[in-house]
Amino acid sequence: MRYQDTVKKIREKQNIDFKELRTLLDEKASKEDVQYLYAQAREVADEVYGKRVFKRGLIEFTNYCKNDCYYCGIRRSNACAERYRLDKDTILACCEKGYTLGYRTFVLQGGEDGYFTDERVCEIVSEIRQNYPDCAITLSIGEKSKESYQKYFDAGADRYLLRHETANAEHYAKLHPAELSLRNRKQCLYDLKDIGYQVGCGFMVGAPYQTIETLYEDLQFIKELEPQMVGIGPFIPQKETPFASEKAGTLERTLRLLAIIRLIHSNVLLPATTALGTIHENGRELGILAGANVVMPNLSPKDVREKYKLYDNKACVGDEAVEGDANLTFRIKQIGYDLVCDRGDFVVK
Ligand code: SAH
Repeated sequence: MRYQDTVKKIREKQNIDFKELRTLLDEKASKEDVQYLYAQAREVADEVYGKRVFKRGLIEFTNYCKNDCYYCGIRRSNACAERYRLDKDTILACCEKGYTLGYRTFVLQGGEDGYFTDERVCEIVSEIRQNYPDCAITLSIGEKSKESYQKYFDAGADRYLLRHETANAEHYAKLHPAELSLRNRKQCLYDLKDIGYQVGCGFMVGAPYQTIETLYEDLQFIKELEPQMVGIGPFIPQKETPFASEKAGTLERTLRLLAIIRLIHSNVLLPATTALGTIHENGRELGILAGANVVMPNLSPKDVREKYKLYDNKACVGDEAVEGDANLTFRIKQIGYDLVCDRGDFVVK
């Protein structure tokens, strides 16, 4: 009963200590106990958002990147990566297609690509804003100055995704080259919040050198930052990176962490990510059943999806993409949820 009591306790206090985290992540926990954890997380999500799942159209508009993160397939040192960038008209055409399919949030994600100057980013954002006043615009283009973030915000962006990757500085240094720091990453997140963005932090589950201790720091950071969104998914090795032969994160641990995040930060918008859909065919449904309430199908043009390979075997066709919208709606219905056409904004506590 210790496991279920711990679940109840963290739900009540909306917080977790290190020992409780260790208990909840225990690999020897019974199936029944873990199902209890998921059920509690679902209840909390249901209390805030009902049985609704929000969809975001993901547009991966450039895979050029000036950074060299050891885990990422589009790192600058990867000479095998076939680079591409989408022009404004192509990006707008993606939005058009998404809008028709009921998408009311567009997520523009990319590497840190110098071609996309603030001026170019703002031009794209303002045009989307003009064409789709009823939609949310989310950016996920890495670390910028506060002035740049402010410009994008003024041009019409409302949300920003910037995973903190790990809240432990030594761990951060094992995943990134010296020119990148946790300090700056965190500063960016605080700047974004300060400007008024809905922000998302997050991390990869099972990233090399991750421990229960570093995960505990991740959860504490979430409590401290109070982001509106948290993106977590399993780490998946990419064969052209320094972490090619590292082990992938597991489905089980990702699901438990999704549930824990829901319990300690009840109103969070929590995606069942593409990476989760990649390691298991029902990954997204299982994520929703563990407390997630967002999915982010791929809205990029078909010919570039394969090229945005952060990790190997990325699920980006069929039901993982917007073409699978009807099917995805059906699959989500099957587990008792509604995939809705809605901006899906954060509900303030
Ligand atoms: N340049 C942007 C977008 C990064 S890609 C930024 O800096 O925020 C989005 C996320 O993909 C990253 O934050 C990282 O957590 C995740 N990612 C990168 N490589 C991965 C891998 N090999 N396995 C799983 N997720 C990965």
